[in-house]
Amino acid sequence: MTNNLLKTSFNVFEYSDEQLEEMAFQIFEVFNVCETLKINKEKGTKFIQEIRKQYLTTIPYHNFSHAFEVFHSLSTFLYTSDQLKKDFTSEEQAALLIAALCHDLKHPGGNNQKQIEQESDLALIYNDQSVIENYSISQTFLLVKKNEEANIFSEIAKQKQKKIRKWIIQLILATDPEFHNEQLQKIRKNKSLSFEEESHRLQVGALILLASDLGYYTRNQNVITKWRQKICEELGFEYNEKDLSFVKFSVLPLYQLVVKTVPEIRTCFQSFEQTFKLKI
Ligand SMILES: [Zn+2]
Repeated sequence: MTNNLLKTSFNVFEYSDEQLEEMAFQIFEVFNVCETLKINKEKGTKFIQEIRKQYLTTIPYHNFSHAFEVFHSLSTFLYTSDQLKKDFTSEEQAALLIAALCHDLKHPGGNNQKQIEQESDLALIYNDQSVIENYSISQTFLLVKKNEEANIFSEIAKQKQKKIRKWIIQLILATDPEFHNEQLQKIRKNKSLSFEEESHRLQVGALILLASDLGYYTRNQNVITKWRQKICEELGFEYNEKDLSFVKFSVLPLYQLVVKTVPEIRTCFQSFEQTFKLKI
């Protein structure tokens, strides 16, 4: 089951949200998330269910399918690389998986620019700073605080709770598209990137989550087209099949840096190279 599930050929559109919710728990089991957090299966299941319910079903792109898609891409990268599984601690792996699943929680649709231009309540609450990312993080921690049955952080020591919270906050903030290039530059410039140092591991984790947020480009052509149409629909752009500038100038450099940083996951990008006739 596991081997069949964690492959880039996975097609999220073949499953209902309830089925995806079950698969999310299976993936938690692959990475021993419940053991790491010292919680029983019921709590793990309840957490995923509550998270699923908080994603808006009326949004074309930023819904639970997208959250699962990103979570699945990240899990596939982790699963494919023995180095990542060995070098990230079990708490860090749990933080990465939770961050992926919750990174767009309650996303209202559109983007930060729209929120800021409209002077929305969210833009005012978060002072125009990574508005939606801050909102999703806040909603994640409020959800577990208000619902003990879904509080997956309640059984571990305070110190570990703090670390996982710090990681989830940093990882989700790093998904703000405004900082993509900055983040890539930071890693490129760091000639002594070492998995020994926690701050470096966090940088690599953020890079992997960023690649997972655009992970659908590693899927088959039909899946890619659907996601591209959905994002255009949500942002109010005309869909243009032939316009591949985003792929060349944003997705490709991101994937190249990920593969350079974690060579073991190169295999995850074979389909992307074939589909777009681009070399990583
Ligand atoms: Zn996202």
